[in-house]
Amino acid sequence: MLQRSISEVKGIGEKLQSHLNELGLFTVEDLLFYFPHRYDSYEVKPLTELTHNEKATIEGEIVSEPALSYYGRKKSRLSFTLQVDQFAVKAVLFNRAFAKKQLQQGDTVTVTGKWDQQRLQITVSQFKKGESKSQDPIQPVYTLKEGVPLNTLKKVIRTAFEESAGEIVDILPESLALAYKLPDRQKALYQMHYPDSRVMLKHAKRRFIYEEFLVFQLKMQLLRKHHRESTTGQVQSYNNDKLTSFVQSMPFELTNAQKKSLAEILKDMKSPHRMNRLLQGDVGSGKTAVAAIGLYASITAGYQGALMVPTEILAEQHFQSLKTMFEGRAEVALLTGSIKGKRRREILAAVEQNEIDILVGTHALIQDEVIFDSLGFVIVDEQHRFGVEQRRALRDKGLAPDVLFMTATPIPRTLAITAFGDMDVSVIDEMPAGRKPVDTYWVKGDMTSRVLSFIQKEIDKGHQAYVICPLIEESDQLDIQNAIEVYDQLSAVFEPNISVGLMHGRLHNDEKEEVMQQFAENNLNILVSTTVVEVGVNVPNATVMVIYDAQRFGLSQLHQLRGRVGRGADQSYCILLGDPKGDVGKERMRIMTETNDGFELSEQDLKLRGPGDFFGKKQSGLPEFKVGDMVHDYRALETARKDAAEIIGENTLEKDESYQALKDYVYSDRHLLGNVLD
Ligand code: ADP
Ligand code: MG
Repeated sequence: MLQRSISEVKGIGEKLQSHLNELGLFTVEDLLFYFPHRYDSYEVKPLTELTHNEKATIEGEIVSEPALSYYGRKKSRLSFTLQVDQFAVKAVLFNRAFAKKQLQQGDTVTVTGKWDQQRLQITVSQFKKGESKSQDPIQPVYTLKEGVPLNTLKKVIRTAFEESAGEIVDILPESLALAYKLPDRQKALYQMHYPDSRVMLKHAKRRFIYEEFLVFQLKMQLLRKHHRESTTGQVQSYNNDKLTSFVQSMPFELTNAQKKSLAEILKDMKSPHRMNRLLQGDVGSGKTAVAAIGLYASITAGYQGALMVPTEILAEQHFQSLKTMFEGRAEVALLTGSIKGKRRREILAAVEQNEIDILVGTHALIQDEVIFDSLGFVIVDEQHRFGVEQRRALRDKGLAPDVLFMTATPIPRTLAITAFGDMDVSVIDEMPAGRKPVDTYWVKGDMTSRVLSFIQKEIDKGHQAYVICPLIEESDQLDIQNAIEVYDQLSAVFEPNISVGLMHGRLHNDEKEEVMQQFAENNLNILVSTTVVEVGVNVPNATVMVIYDAQRFGLSQLHQLRGRVGRGADQSYCILLGDPKGDVGKERMRIMTETNDGFELSEQDLKLRGPGDFFGKKQSGLPEFKVGDMVHDYRALETARKDAAEIIGENTLEKDESYQALKDYVYSDRHLLGNVLD
């Protein structure tokens, strides 16, 4: 079996085993399926065959003395001219001052980097002196950790292959493999590690993308079927009169989208099925209001409710607003990590004795010491911030409470159905009347001084501003430096009259909370931050959102950030500073200035589908796949979803013998399917 421990592979001793474990590799199967995250090829091509903005390898003679210059803090730029055939190409190396000693006029070099067709320029990421060995094969690039050098990894993967030849079972039935012309599993696996050509690699990838999407969809749909068929949930007979009077006591009328979502939620509550529903809606669309009505319904049916949110500040904010809302109707309490001692014991006792109707809190809610008397309704806000385990732990505190997940990331409906296949989805796609859309401007080039005076004007009116510095994927160290630089600049310009705060990922949680609290209380006028600025935090007095290098963000992320402002009565502004090179980037900026509708944006995002990760998976809670990308490989995902629906619908896994291997594979995930199997 491929499930045997990697320690049985020849050449893996105790030490290497533990390093491989750190990479998440425990079984031979894990090792064989540890795919390269990228493939490089250093095939030298003539300039005419290069693609703008893509990686390229070229070869030429250095015809100018390499010039080194420094800028910013410890940043350097080395540039020289490279003669390639009859063309003069500019080569630029960032932060590689050491290369100055290695490269001289007259040298022949092979350089690899990003090609700029318009400027005949290459941003070099790798260089080798001398001519390239022609026909270098495709080089797989693996994610490595200390203690596992590339060659060692390659060697043990190869050994694992040799030792387990014949054990790699094809889990797709022939009918499906034929229908999509997918290569055999073992051959495809081999190609993933040792590609013979780009074409072979492409087909191997195509196979695994489909395979993993199909398996994922089968699991999700099995779970969903199970939820639907099981009748172990509670029938919550809520009191309609009380509910109506509660809704009427609200200072506004529900939008149609809110009414529709509420009806879907109430229907789940009344039914003997457990609710497992995702409530999607833009920031400020009124999800919390709907959720609160659901909570109240549960209380009138004699149950308790819980609201779990990702941070203490959010918990505090929700607690305050629910307390006001439920004044005279229900007891609301707050439980977070910082509530300790006697106070904590009192709350816990009251929860256990059903003296508290609604408990609001962070993950403190799922600790063993928290015992509910009769938990009926659970809301998990910003659901993606919690792991599956945490979500399940909370759910298991009640007998079988109805669970509502909320997310403020608008995900196109089609994608949501696919991504959250095990949940029902309700959508609030309409904003309450009278909201002022955030005015969004795209500012090109260096207009910093104008932006600064704009910030000044808003602060003079008593408002506050966020300034966001980008997250550079490769290095959060650089991000933080960036943020610190901007912070220093702004402090120099604005202080002492205007106070500037700084927040980034390296701060401890309590430091972050402290800065946020200061900002929320208007003790800070400007908050400079990386994108860690808390999702969902509500500072209605902030009216300006400035985003540096906006081209680095995906549309959804820009929209999320913009959602931090426009929460009060005053007109708010979002200023995108950015100079996108490509058409896709420009298009994104334009779309941002044209619409405030998150669903529309996310649809556009899906359409643009340029390179990179628009959705920001971590932000959206979309599942991550090994080979496939939900956005990029959207078609394959749809195909897999339809196929899975057919397989589940017709019970093919049980009926058709050629599906046996697939069935075994799907069901081997006890972790996810435990409650389906038991
Ligand atoms: P979300 O949780 O989706 O971000 P909330 O439920 O917190 O949104 O609502 C945001 C704000 O809008 C709150 O101040 C809330 O009282 C208000 N609100 C909610 N629904 C409506 C509505 N139908 N009409 C007007 N205001 C509303
Ligand atoms: Mg909310």
